[in-house]
Amino acid sequence: MSDRYMGLALEQARLAWAEGEVPVGAVVVKDGEVIATGYNQPIGRHDPTAHAEIVALRAAADKLGNYRLPGCELYVTLEPCIMCSGAMMHARLARVIYAAVDPKTGACGSVLNLFDQERLNHHTEVQGGVMADEASSLLRAFFAERRAAARKLPASS
Ligand SMILES: [Zn+2]
Repeated sequence: MSDRYMGLALEQARLAWAEGEVPVGAVVVKDGEVIATGYNQPIGRHDPTAHAEIVALRAAADKLGNYRLPGCELYVTLEPCIMCSGAMMHARLARVIYAAVDPKTGACGSVLNLFDQERLNHHTEVQGGVMADEASSLLRAFFAERRAAARKLPASS
């Protein structure tokens, strides 16, 4: 079941890639139903907060007419950063499930773990590693393509 939702999050990640953004995607699930989706688009939106998770959380809160999202789960293809983890806590999200780890900005255990801070959080469970290979491959392919494009630029000008 979680693979199905993560598969949908990966589809969202591909939408980000199609717009030249780092491919990260997210979906919010409530009672087994996908109620919101989001993909990474900080460049296109000129918005440093437009990570996939924030976009999906906003859409879910708007749909439910509630700034809190109890009973909701968020599936995301990359380990959430500090900002997104904080937003999930404020939303009182029930659970976050992520795919690939992010050694550079991950706040679910890679750089630090905001979710094991008893003083911060009593609402959100964390699970990592769901379809991690697929999500990592997508990110690797994106950055490889970008490096290849950067190498070609001087020759074509
Ligand atoms: Zn983030």
